[in-house]
Amino acid sequence: MAFSFHTHSGQFCMHASGQLEEIVKRAIEVEFTHLGLSEHKPRTKSGDLYPEEQELLLKPTDLSDLFDSYVIESRRLQAKYEDRINILVGMETEYIRPECIAEIRQLKRKHALEYLVGSIHHVDGMPIDFSADSFAECERALGTTEVVFRRYYAQQRELITQIEPEVIGHLDKIAVFRPDFKPSSHVIEAMKKNVKIAIDYGALFEVNTAGYAKIGRPYPSEEIIKFIVSSGGKLTFSDDCHSPLDIGGHYSNLAETVRKMNLEPHIYYLEYDKQAQTLSSKPVPRCLEHKAWKQF
Ligand SMILES: [Zn+2]
Ligand SMILES: [Zn+2]
Repeated sequence: MAFSFHTHSGQFCMHASGQLEEIVKRAIEVEFTHLGLSEHKPRTKSGDLYPEEQELLLKPTDLSDLFDSYVIESRRLQAKYEDRINILVGMETEYIRPECIAEIRQLKRKHALEYLVGSIHHVDGMPIDFSADSFAECERALGTTEVVFRRYYAQQRELITQIEPEVIGHLDKIAVFRPDFKPSSHVIEAMKKNVKIAIDYGALFEVNTAGYAKIGRPYPSEEIIKFIVSSGGKLTFSDDCHSPLDIGGHYSNLAETVRKMNLEPHIYYLEYDKQAQTLSSKPVPRCLEHKAWKQF
């Protein structure tokens, strides 16, 4: 079986490309059986808009409207393609400041979202994965790389404990511009504590292939993946696509990692039962044997 529980489209995200329906069609074409739609949570302060959104003179209310349209379109696609692929309608979170928690809860309720990808892309309100410059600015503001990493895992803990997202998004995204940085044992312990909290409520940890292109390895690192599975955690796959052609991106590298690390017994997927309106996570033993993997 092949699937991804972390996807974006240019129809509803200014730093992505392609229509959402093209994403779904591409996923069907490469024989994905399950697809999680997880457009970014709309940011609610004008200071949090990214340059490409500012150039278009967008306001936070526009992002909020766009997200509403995303859910409507997702529901249409979920019904239209239900015989061919199991689609989950969800959202990728943010933790820019504590108010985000209430906003996430409100959006999940309002749209009856099936699941959340629990990610953070900011530390103390500053973007950490937007550009090397924005990361360096964050380091300057907080003093050291160590403090940025420490604050990242502290804020991730807030998100994980308060929201309990079904999927933990790119757990160590903080490493994107400092892949070789060795954080202190204090930071590593904080990261491990987050993993344990998420395991306790049954989260799936995505092995996110977007990292292969950026830093030559998935998010999270193999070391962290090892810790997750040895602690009894469940993994899933995601391509974090931002265009139809990203669907299944770097899944051949992923297959290599899965084989090398013997991860197959730990791979799970999410399935939404529309009739019963329930979400369940199920194991996929020997998932790489599925013919879909031959093309990646
Ligand atoms: Zn994105
Ligand atoms: Zn993300």
